[in-house]
Amino acid sequence: PGASRTFWELVEARAALTPDRPVLLQGDRSLTFGELRERAERTAAGLYGMGVRAGTVVAWQLPTRLETAVLSFALTRLGAVQTPLIPFYRDREVRFALRESGAAFCAVPGVWRGFDHTAMAERIAAELPDPPHVFEAYDVLPDGDPAILPPPPEPSLGEEVRWIYWTSGTTSDPKGVLHTDRSLIAAGSCLAHALRLSPDDVGSMAFPYAHVAGPDYTVTLLLYGFPAVMFEHFALPDALAEYRRHGVTVAGGSTAFYAMFLAEQRKAPDRPLIPSLRLLAGGGAPKPPELYHAVVREMGVRLTHGYGMTEVPMITMGRPDDTAEHLALTEGRPPAGMEIRITDEHGVPLPYGAEGEVRLRGEAVCRGYLDPEATAAAFDAEGFLITGDLGRLRESGHLTLTGRLKDIIIRKGENISAKEIEDLLHTHPAVADAAVIGLPDPERGERVCAVIEQPPGAPVLTLEAVAAHLRAAGLSVHKVPERLELLDALPRNETLRKVLKYRLRERFGG
Ligand code: ATP
Ligand code: MG
Repeated sequence: PGASRTFWELVEARAALTPDRPVLLQGDRSLTFGELRERAERTAAGLYGMGVRAGTVVAWQLPTRLETAVLSFALTRLGAVQTPLIPFYRDREVRFALRESGAAFCAVPGVWRGFDHTAMAERIAAELPDPPHVFEAYDVLPDGDPAILPPPPEPSLGEEVRWIYWTSGTTSDPKGVLHTDRSLIAAGSCLAHALRLSPDDVGSMAFPYAHVAGPDYTVTLLLYGFPAVMFEHFALPDALAEYRRHGVTVAGGSTAFYAMFLAEQRKAPDRPLIPSLRLLAGGGAPKPPELYHAVVREMGVRLTHGYGMTEVPMITMGRPDDTAEHLALTEGRPPAGMEIRITDEHGVPLPYGAEGEVRLRGEAVCRGYLDPEATAAAFDAEGFLITGDLGRLRESGHLTLTGRLKDIIIRKGENISAKEIEDLLHTHPAVADAAVIGLPDPERGERVCAVIEQPPGAPVLTLEAVAAHLRAAGLSVHKVPERLELLDALPRNETLRKVLKYRLRERFGG
């Protein structure tokens, strides 16, 4: 499987090797590698009968289920271009994605969790000049006789754009990111290698299959031949029962998931939360060092956290031979073939240790955006992707992210990193999570506002107490927040539960 250049080649190679081993586990249902291949072919034939061909753009807004994986692989069998949409997206995002991608088909789950997806998709489709054909694909998938299918895509077509993913929209409208089978397979192989996955592992997908991590993670299953548990509704503590039942060894997720696991662990500190677990591995959002230490200490597992984005699903990852210091303070190292440059605002490379903008080049980097102007603006003359993230590189190759360019607060001409303050806030016991934003200020340009989510039952924080804590921790006086807002819950997106700072800025006067 390691030599595969297309997703379909990968499925065929794996299905030939271990057809009877499970690949996906969900509740009491499961799918073997052989069944995945077989069912994807039947579904591909059904889709072919509906008019889907190589290059046809097919949107799907489907929950995380075995059937969704089958449909996605059926589309790879046909060489169609798929654009997965997170099930929680509503009119605005779905209209945007269908219009921008020019989708000819849109697969929906019907009524799902009380919401009529078919009605929404049909309403949106009717407004578009070239309305996509909306069809339901929940329990029952399109079906046909594989004998009618043309041959699968040539392996050389691994370089064609076959996937359009949408960024989280943290900083602006989501952008349609163009991936090829090659770029996603490259990202998945690097992930498998960094985590030292093996056929004996049992993985888990806590994120929606419609996230770019879906195929990325599935590549690791196909390469090594181990299964993963998937969840249509991921919620603790129920999900934990599934982890235990299937003996999950590697749990994925992101910062908010580690915090959820830790909160569960604290309810019964003397028992391992998931006895079979050897590794918590995730990424995609800032991880306060404090949380890292608490997870390792209290849960007794390793935690490796990586850096990824829709454009480059796997950039760096902590590895088993990294020191605790590396794992706590860096996002790990890039795999072979991923070039990282830290530059000044003109793109001039900076020395090790200096803070600057992160630029990336390598096979796992997307091929651009749907909008050619966005593509032109995003890549520099040497082909490096300009990420808008800020970081420092050590000589050992370890990268530490220090913030996002759009997340820098400029107060009286001084640049202030929101992340530095957030990390220190996390060391306060009455802080469950914190987001620091800049609010416009007529005299200072911007001023620092801390928005804090407190753990249940914690004493209510005041601005004075927060400021005193930060000063005691050594934060420069000009960075100490001048405003405090307490929220029961920070606004988060539905995929990796990342904090949506633009909402906070809207709400508190940005
Ligand atoms: P948009 O591009 O639409 O504004 P977004 O960048 O948040 O949204 P994603 O592609 O989901 O959308 O997120 C990627 C971003 O998440 C990265 O550019 C980076 O800022 C952040 N990120 C990813 N991993 C980490 C990490 N380990 N630590 C800190 N931040 C991270
Ligand atoms: Mg982004």
